[in-house]
Formats: sequence, structure tokens, C-alpha cells
Amino acid sequence: MPEPAKISVLLKEGRRFKPLPEFSRRAHVNSRAALERLRRQAARDPEGFWAAQARSLEWIKPWRKTLDWRPPRARWFLGGRLNVSANCLDRHLAGPLRQKAALIWEGEPGEVRTFTYQQLHGEVCRFANVLKSLGVRRGDRVAIYMPMIPEAAVAMLACARIGAPHSVVFAGFSAEALRDRINDAAAKLVVTADGGWRRGNVVRLKDAVDAAVAQAPTIEHVVVVKRAGCEVAWQPGRDVWWQEAMAVASAACPASPLDSEHPLFILYTSGSTGKPKGVLHTQAGYLLQARLTMEWVFDLKPEDLFWCTADVGWVTGHSYVVYGPLAAGATILMYEGAPLHPGPDRFWSMIERHKVTIFYTAPTAIRAFMRLGPEPARRHDLSCLRLLGTVGEPINPEAWLWYHKVIGNGRCPIVDTWWQTETGAIMIAPVPGATPTKPGSATLPLPGIEADVVDRDGRPVPAGTGGFLVVKRPWPSMLRGIYGDPSRYAAQYFSQVSSPGSCARGERRTPYYFTGDGARRDEDGYFWMLGRIDDVLNVAGHRLSTMEIESALVSHPSVAEAAVVGRPDEVLGQAVTAFVTPRVGVQACENLKDDLRQHVARAIGAIAKPADIRFTEALPKTRSGKIMRRLLRELAAGGSVRGDVTTLEDLSVLARLQSDEE
Ligand code: ATP
Ligand code: MG
Repeated sequence: MPEPAKISVLLKEGRRFKPLPEFSRRAHVNSRAALERLRRQAARDPEGFWAAQARSLEWIKPWRKTLDWRPPRARWFLGGRLNVSANCLDRHLAGPLRQKAALIWEGEPGEVRTFTYQQLHGEVCRFANVLKSLGVRRGDRVAIYMPMIPEAAVAMLACARIGAPHSVVFAGFSAEALRDRINDAAAKLVVTADGGWRRGNVVRLKDAVDAAVAQAPTIEHVVVVKRAGCEVAWQPGRDVWWQEAMAVASAACPASPLDSEHPLFILYTSGSTGKPKGVLHTQAGYLLQARLTMEWVFDLKPEDLFWCTADVGWVTGHSYVVYGPLAAGATILMYEGAPLHPGPDRFWSMIERHKVTIFYTAPTAIRAFMRLGPEPARRHDLSCLRLLGTVGEPINPEAWLWYHKVIGNGRCPIVDTWWQTETGAIMIAPVPGATPTKPGSATLPLPGIEADVVDRDGRPVPAGTGGFLVVKRPWPSMLRGIYGDPSRYAAQYFSQVSSPGSCARGERRTPYYFTGDGARRDEDGYFWMLGRIDDVLNVAGHRLSTMEIESALVSHPSVAEAAVVGRPDEVLGQAVTAFVTPRVGVQACENLKDDLRQHVARAIGAIAKPADIRFTEALPKTRSGKIMRRLLRELAAGGSVRGDVTTLEDLSVLARLQSDEE
């Protein structure tokens, strides 16, 4: 692990955006003072603060003890009982939300389906009964491998209703990846579809499930939604059509009273830094923060239409497509297909047609749109939007400004939300009616979240200095473990950095949660993510952040996207190698390389000037859209790629980069 306290900080971003008065006036948290009050309350009495917030959930039995923290093990709201699906559905049925749209779905071919809270409740109860009739009991694991169709949300909520933890596996993964995840969790049943639509083609999911289940001995049944209408192989006795089973299932299914710490789901991380980890989340704490952040960060109002573009196969799709918005009584928009299908303006056309008010997407998507220029968005009236969000990677200031200007027309606050599969919910983000924003900064931790930037000994580093991003106290939606691997959990997250102190003097050192990310804080305390600690470069004794050099490159008008890695160099230690995707219509040539080198030198300093620049049509990304620098590092070093590539989005990108090399 490099010593991060010496990460040189080069990027200077001076632009500021204050909350607009007309936004603040109506916001849940409407001023800096109001937000500071919440922060102070939380700091003074963290457990009391979380206990007060938790009263907003609907409990079947109240908890006895708010927190039991025996590092690295945390348990929240001990003795309490509730049901997540009842919090997302049943509690809304007594009042005006009963007939409100819970879910509006658009298929890639263009069909639209709408479910009210009442209808969604009926579907969930029916599917919970189907699961029970197929032998699924409390505690049994259910794998979900589905396209982005309403049935995916129904399946998740039905599992939650009966206390069967789900493991959603992104439907873009191969049969092998699915098999490994089924076997890791020893799942009893898989829910899938015949196929789903993507870029005008049917992705045949049932075929992949058949191949996976042939090597997954714990699976007893496969439930198949008829979605694409393609032919599928059928194993009588094992396979069940969703539609047939639902037709005969009862719509009455009481929500099971579950312990606060009963497992809710297992979800594998993206694999940006290595082999994916099966992150385990439990009921109450997870639900609490997923719901609260809908109010704090997305400032949800009853009339909002909330669109989070993430797939349910990622944590963002768990917390901000399903659990958070439904617990908060929102109307969500869900979309099945590819963002640029059938044309580059699909998203903007959907925003205009459905009148989306809050739009939450990933920097990778924003950079893809930026690459195409503003025209596709300008074809549509996006004045319905009032708030924009991003998650998944650091957003380069240039992409932030583009999003703000072209999509938000300068009116919509942007919430850059930092969090992880492990944190369950947003941790560091603006509260849009209260926090002035700076492009490229996720701003400040939310109330109750004690995040900091520290050195190896756990001491906070001075403003402007890079360090490890840690969380000092447990929080309700934190992961409870890595499924089946308690020692990896302790080693990965709780053994790298502790509170400062000397054991020799008998001072107690408590472990901090280690995020794996590098960050710095500025003079206002704002957090700036510097990228993964594993990706930090070491050039002539200087530690450089990937994020800063990439952002300098992206601020050049010819560049759409960039990834920076270090290549071994005898003199410098590492030499900066940049992989650059030019904007559409830009001629990639030697002159542009020189120009980019000068541009980086001017923007952040000569030390960061790339030694090599390689143009590429596309960068290797995870299925969730994150740049996989570890693969580029292997390529830049001149070797072949050895690391885990199972979560890579498009193997051909890597193959092309490799053949360029030869
Ligand atoms: P793995 O842990 O397997 O390498 P992963 O970390 O990519 O996969 P996720 O949990 O989906 O899997 O991603 C969380 C990470 O994404 C964070 O640790 C951080 O590096 C990055 N990230 C997410 N949101 C932001 C953000 N707003 N700004 C900067 N980085 C972000
Ligand atoms: Mg991670």
C-alpha cells in the first residue's frame, strides 16, 4: 500500500455553485444552518441520532439497543423486527399513495407499463407465494438474473417479504459468472427471463441460466418470465413459467416479521480492483439510510418522477431503483435497454415524454453523451428536470460542467454522490438546498457519517494533502460481512487503518473502515476523490492521483475520456501512460499528443505530463461502467493481462488494445 499522505495535489478547481434560492425554499433541508444542525446532533450523540431517524421506519417490534459495535462486527437496532417490503409497499396503502404510480417502466422496443403501489403490492405478494410454493423458506438464498423489467423489482421485494436473501446477478454476466455467484451463495432457486432487449437484440438469458445451473447443484427451481418470446429449452419439474405460477397464486401474503439483522441481500462488487466480493447487507440499517438519503440528497417530493439509470444488478439499482425510492413513496422510472438505442437521444426523449424530475446516472454515461456533443439533448425539452445526480466514479470537472449546462440548463443542482456497495447508501454528497457545490467534489459527508482523510497512522492529513478515505464510526447501512468469508471482511476493511494512539502506552486503537479510495480535503473541508489507492502513481518520488491527470486530459476540447496508469520506468520509478478516447470527429494524431502533453503540464504541472499517450476508441470498463485501470497497467507494462477479467464489459476492447501493442 503506498503512503498516501504524500499524494501530490495538483488539480485546482475554483468554480463554485451556490444553491439557488428557489430550490432551497422548497427543500427538505433548506439551509446550511439546518444541515449543520443535523450534523451537530449526529456528532454529539451518534446513536441517539440514528435511533431518532429510525423511528421513521415502520416497525413490527421496537428495538432494545441501537448499536452493538465489536469491531469489526456491528449490529444495529437489536431486538427490533420489521419487514422491508412492508415498508416499501404496505405502509403506503392506507393513505393517498395507494393509487399513486410506484413504477413506470419502458421496454427497449418502446412499450410502457405502470404499476400503482396497490398493484405492485399485489404482484409482490403473489410472487412471495410462488416462492413459498416452490419450497423457498426464510434464510434460503434466491438468485435473480433478469433484464430491467418490473418483475426484477417484484422478485427482490418478494424475497424481502419472506426473508429469503436475494443475490441479484447482473444479466450481462456470462453463465460462468452466474454459476460462481450461485455456488458461492448456495442459492436454492433462480429467477430469470427467456430474454431481454438490448440494442435491438434479444439477450438470451435462459440459455445462460441452463448452462450455469448444470453446474450448480443447490438449485431446485428456475422461474422464467416470458419477456422476449424467444424459444427456450425446458426442464419439466425444475422450470416454471412466471406467468403461469402467478396466475394461480394468491395475492394475500403477510409480511414476515424479520429481525433487524436478518440478511436482506448478497451483492457482488464491480470487480474494479480485483475479484468481486459478496457483500452482505441486513434489513433495518440498510433500509433506513436508503430511505433517508432519498430525502436528504434527492430532496424527494410527492410529485417527483425519479429516474436512476442503474441496473438492479448493482448496488445503485438496489438502493435507488428499488428500496430507497419505494420506501420513500416515490414514483420510479425503470428502463430496460441501452442508452443510445435506437438513437443517441433515447434518454432525453424519455425524460421529456415521462417528465422526469430527478435524474441519477454515472460519469461514464455522461462522458459518452459529451463525446457525441450537445445536439441529441438539444432536440428535447428537458425543462421538467430539477435535480441531477452522479455516482460510480469521480466525475471530471469538465463532465460535471457539461452535465450542468447541457442537461440541467444551468438550473439544476448536481449531487455527486460518493458511496460503495459496502456502504449500502450514499455517504458523501451535497444536500442540494444547503450545500454549495464545486465541480468534481462530492462535497461533505452526510449527517451521522464520520468520514475523514488520514495517513497510515490514522491521523487526519492537513487540508490539500492526499490520504486514505476512511469512516471512523459504524453507520447503520454498512455491510455486515463478505458472504462466507469473515477473514477477508476483517482483512479488507478493518485492518489497514486505526485511530491514532500507541499500544505501548496502553491507548486503545479502534479500527477505521478502510474504503480503498484516496481523497483529499480542501480548505472548506470538501472531499475530492483521487481514485483507488491501488491505482496511485509514483513518478520520480511524487505520488500522483489518476483522477487529477485524467481530469486535466478531459478538460481538453478534443478529449472525451481518459485513463491514466503508471508503467515501470528505470529512471522515474513509473512513467505516466495515458489512454485517451477522443471526441467524435476529432483526428487522433501525433500533434494532438504533443498538444495534450502541454495541456496537462499547463493544467496541473510538468511532473504529470504523460510519457506515453495512446488513442483508443474505447477503454476497458467493468460491466457497471468503471474504468479498469488494473488491466491497463498490465498492458502498459508490456505484459499480457493476467488479472480477473470476468466483470469486464467488452473483451474485444482489451483484445484491440493488446493487438495495438504487438
Ligand atoms: P471492487 O470493490 O470489486 O473493486 P468497485 O469498488 O468498483 O468494485 P462499487 O462498490 O460498485 O464496486 O464501487 C464503489 C467505488 O466506486 C468507490 O469505492 C469509488 O472508488 C467509486 N465511486 C463511487 N462513487 C463515486 C464518486 N461519486 N466519486 C468518486 N468515486 C466514486
Ligand atoms: Mg470497491
